[in-house]
Amino acid sequence: MATSDDTARRASHPALFGSEERRVKVLLPLPLGGAYDYRLPPDMTARPGQFVRVPLSNREMVGVVWDPPEEEDASTVPASKLRDVEAVLNAPPLPAENRRLVEWIAAYVLSPPGAVLRMAMSVPSALDPPPTRTAYVLSDTPPEVRTTPARARVIERAREGMALPAADLAREAGVTPGVVRGLADAGVLVPVQVRERADWPDPDSERAGPALSEAQRAAADSVVAKARAGGFSVTLIDGVTGSGKTEVYFEAIAAALRAGRQVLVLLPEIALGAQWLERFTKRFGVAPAEWHSDLTAAQRRATWRGVAEGRVRVLVGARSGLHLPFPDLGLIVIDEEHDQSFKQEDGVIYHARDMAVVRAHIGDFPILLASATPSLETVTNCESGRYARLVLPERHGGADLPTIEMVDLRRHPPPRQSWIAPPLREALEQCLARGEQALLFLNRRGYAPLTLCRACGHRLECPNCNAWLVEHRFSRRLECHHCGHWIPMPEECPECGAADQMAACGPGVERLAEEAAALLPDARMELATSDTLMGPLAAAAFVDRMATGETNLVIGTQIVAKGYHFPLLTLVGVVDADLGLEGGDLRASERTFQLLSQVAGRAGRAGHKGRVLLQTANPDARVLSAIAAGDRDGFLAAEAEARKAGGWPPFGRLAALIVSGPEERPVEETARALARAAPVADGVRVLGPAPPPLALLRGRFRRRLLLKADRAISVQKALRDWIGHVKVPNQVRLHVDVDPYNFM
Ligand code: ADP
Ligand code: ZN
Repeated sequence: MATSDDTARRASHPALFGSEERRVKVLLPLPLGGAYDYRLPPDMTARPGQFVRVPLSNREMVGVVWDPPEEEDASTVPASKLRDVEAVLNAPPLPAENRRLVEWIAAYVLSPPGAVLRMAMSVPSALDPPPTRTAYVLSDTPPEVRTTPARARVIERAREGMALPAADLAREAGVTPGVVRGLADAGVLVPVQVRERADWPDPDSERAGPALSEAQRAAADSVVAKARAGGFSVTLIDGVTGSGKTEVYFEAIAAALRAGRQVLVLLPEIALGAQWLERFTKRFGVAPAEWHSDLTAAQRRATWRGVAEGRVRVLVGARSGLHLPFPDLGLIVIDEEHDQSFKQEDGVIYHARDMAVVRAHIGDFPILLASATPSLETVTNCESGRYARLVLPERHGGADLPTIEMVDLRRHPPPRQSWIAPPLREALEQCLARGEQALLFLNRRGYAPLTLCRACGHRLECPNCNAWLVEHRFSRRLECHHCGHWIPMPEECPECGAADQMAACGPGVERLAEEAAALLPDARMELATSDTLMGPLAAAAFVDRMATGETNLVIGTQIVAKGYHFPLLTLVGVVDADLGLEGGDLRASERTFQLLSQVAGRAGRAGHKGRVLLQTANPDARVLSAIAAGDRDGFLAAEAEARKAGGWPPFGRLAALIVSGPEERPVEETARALARAAPVADGVRVLGPAPPPLALLRGRFRRRLLLKADRAISVQKALRDWIGHVKVPNQVRLHVDVDPYNFM
């Protein structure tokens, strides 16, 4: 707030009033056009990157002092209109690399820079001074007091010099807190304020890792040399599940640490489990700092600050870890680089893998991408020589890859209202009889994806979305998986009122579990979905039950497809291998290939041969025959051909415009206006507007347009010119999605 003090100060420095040197740019974490100008009071200094508190209309906000523009931009705000910076916060500044990244992302995805900055300022409380608490030290001039053995122990402990809170001091001295209080009241101990500071012991980069295989050694030497020398490079570590990619990038992490640099590892959120952390701890002696949605507010604050102050040396996180203020980042690793969860779909729409490559370029250091099923984008970059590629050809220790067979559902149909075909049933029985473990994979939560009325045919749909309500039998609810809307399971049809006519159609994992329990009554079965494995504790308990054999049959969604290693899991049954191909978007085949390969990779480890059965009504589908034949490269080559022929990414560029609003008409009109204003140029085409599959989502009507362009064309420029010409009414929102992955 501008106070009367400020006014007084201004008046007393007439010479500086209006001086241009005292003008600073401040970027606020808001979707504004750009940085705003403020005046720096004479007694204040602020360098780019420092966090400052400034007035904005009638409130206060924290922003970042931004770099002065390179060219003299004739600032439009006259000096007399400038408001004063209120305070420079006592917090580590936002490093220049992060500021450049904010600008880069904003320009690439056509987002206001302040909206991107908000991701880097996700923990406002980290900018406040760290909380303090009261601790006690021995007085320099202790008064004479009556001594008791308990008091003597406290004094002896306090003499060691470390300021400790009363409770800790009492515990360490083995006395009751009352003894400490008594000494404090007597003035023998005096209170001091200490800052609470979480600490991350440094990972030990000198510990020996396992003896590497020859292929691992060669790959490790290459990435170690890059991490040691620094300089920008992108390297794909390409190897089947279990080939030892993690051990290879651990070597690079050790090299970066020895070079004194910080390291960031990004994993898909659900792969960021106990097993990965355990392996890191085994290799480096301590756990890394973590960054994901399960952290408490206090953990977030401490971690943000620990990163900014350089005390966190290695951080493993989900995609938002990219925006943390590392002052000395020297290596990024993206594991499971093909995973779609790196694409953020709301707020600022961006791809964390691609922006991590930009971050490495800005910081001039190497980035490693690891995957058993790399994306076509990355493979294409390897082939053109922009990325290096290191191949680990086989599973560590020579463990065999599983055999993959198709079960043709047309020849071996399961009984009515069931989904496990006879060959899969037999395989399950044999597997469990041998004392091994099996996984039934179906990527569908709940009991049934559709509920309809047998009397009138009415389907139960979400009122806010173009989507069916999914039955969840445990919770006795029908739920929308898009907006979270739910209703209790109705006994009568809401349309015709018929009683007891609601019928479940199709299987979800809950229904599959019911069937499996009937077929295999002795199985020790467990469901593994995002409904049952909520949070790291539940996931760790699940891993335990698998390790001890308490569970021998898992029915799971994609949550079990990633990152877990279960040595006794030898059979994987994919209940519906055709499921992912239904949507038919640009990457449906690629995604199916990745997901099914990943699920298949769960089968067979440590000397037990694995077997995978894919149930399909479509055994000739290219993607399935490629998986069965283990022909990943053939699949990718064919996929590349098809995309090249159509001019689709990565051989052409795409950007989607999504128009949405609470009323259909203005949305439709805006979409049509956009189509009329569409750019006309060689190498550019606009498709749409069309109602997407989710033409109603969370109560908003939606239309999509797609800009398709040759690689040589800047879609950002085309989009800016285009959108700038169309008036978007207030209640209608326009989202730009550059490089879209989601076509719903
Ligand atoms: P990926 O990351 O390619 O899936 P991992 O690095 O997880 O492969 O390795 C698979 C398994 O093999 C893990 O249990 C790992 O501990 C083990 N492993 C990998 N390399 C070695 C090695 N050189 N020595 C001993 N065990 C290894
Ligand atoms: Zn809904």
